Amino acid sequence: MSKIAMKTPLVEMDGDEMTRIIWKQIKDIVIEPFVDLKTEYFDLGLEYRDQTNDQVTVDSAIRTQELGVAVKCATITPNAQRVEEYKLKEMWKSPNGTIRAILDGTVFRAPIMTSCITPFVSSWKQPVTIARHAYGDVYRDSEMVIDGACKAELLLTMPDGSTKKQIIHSFDGPGVLLGMHNTDKSIYSFARSCFNYALDVKQDLWFATKDTISKQYDHRFKDIFAEVFAAEFKEKFEAANIEYFYTLIDDAVARIMRCEGNIIWACKNYDGDVMSDMIASANGSLAMMTSVLVSPDGKYEYEAAHGTVTRHYYRYLKGQKTSTNPMATLFAWTGALRKRGELDGIDDLMAYADAVETAAIETIESGIVTGDLKNLMNHENIRVVDTEDFLREIAANIKL
Ligand code: NAP
Ligand code: MG
Repeated sequence: MSKIAMKTPLVEMDGDEMTRIIWKQIKDIVIEPFVDLKTEYFDLGLEYRDQTNDQVTVDSAIRTQELGVAVKCATITPNAQRVEEYKLKEMWKSPNGTIRAILDGTVFRAPIMTSCITPFVSSWKQPVTIARHAYGDVYRDSEMVIDGACKAELLLTMPDGSTKKQIIHSFDGPGVLLGMHNTDKSIYSFARSCFNYALDVKQDLWFATKDTISKQYDHRFKDIFAEVFAAEFKEKFEAANIEYFYTLIDDAVARIMRCEGNIIWACKNYDGDVMSDMIASANGSLAMMTSVLVSPDGKYEYEAAHGTVTRHYYRYLKGQKTSTNPMATLFAWTGALRKRGELDGIDDLMAYADAVETAAIETIESGIVTGDLKNLMNHENIRVVDTEDFLREIAANIKL
């Protein structure tokens, strides 16, 4: 059988620990036997990030802007313990943060669903995808503990030195205070990424804020979404037969629990942080959550939602075989290859990506799983295998 040819290379961002091991296994066992894989390789493993003073991360993001599609392995975000462990020159920033800032993107997270793992929310038949705005609000705030009586005000100083003031509260005793912000630029990018992604996957888009209470701040989000939708997306949504739906955040939460899925739920930063954990745990396992960063101008970076699975890696280093779940990382690869196929007009590549995903889901549905899924399965005949054997089963199931 001849291998499927590619035109434009994928930006390949390698990573750390257990996921770095899985990365190579996926390529060796599931991809390279079928595809004449073309990538531009960037080593985002912590050692090489340190050697290049993190320039490799910046370079990989810039190349993603040029080529349009990247696939990323999980990477270590260094903390004090990692600085010591890897003898780092500096506590380098989170690669995901760096890449997201350069691409100005929004992260979409969706569970991989199978018939033998029932979500805790029984109405969900298809995935609920969360889009989290990843800038500002309480994550970039300024906070104060108030010791006693005082008058708190908002103060704006204009470039010409003139000022504007607004009372927040006259304290007559101790309390707390916070100031937060967002920018129109970031909200417009968030809105465009969400509308583009909804069109891409042909799913309805929901967006919710608390604009009845926050009449300026949250209302600004609602207005920008409405404006971008009317000016740029309304007709495209009609043509694709999908809807944009705005509601209050409490109403959205109530409706999500009753919906069948197959929707994208766009959330402000805090709502997205909280709700993505809710969606992940309601679907059973972090190892089954996919993640894609989409820029407002349609550049894509696919990855798994989980980290480098450090505890499994230490077992691997002792020579033990691990049963780490490669599904989310595998779906990052298929997502990227499908998108590359779509952009370059390679039907075989798109069909291959579909076939791998089908084979992976059928493998789980046949009862062959990694250890993390064992207790979640409604299945008579479960066989727990190690990562490599799981990938071999998938490769053997691929029907082209
Ligand atoms: P993690 O790597 O997601 O793992 C947490 C635990 O979840 C694991 O110990 C494991 O539980 C389970 N798990 C996660 N993925 C799994 C998989 N594919 N198969 C089976 N079990 C899985 O999070 P962490 O341990 O908090 O973080 C480890 C490193 O990853 C950190 O250095 C962090 O900076 C980095 N990180 C990177 C990203 C990213 O690049 N996007 C995201 C998050 C964290 P058991 O041990 O109980 O089996
Ligand atoms: Mg969270």
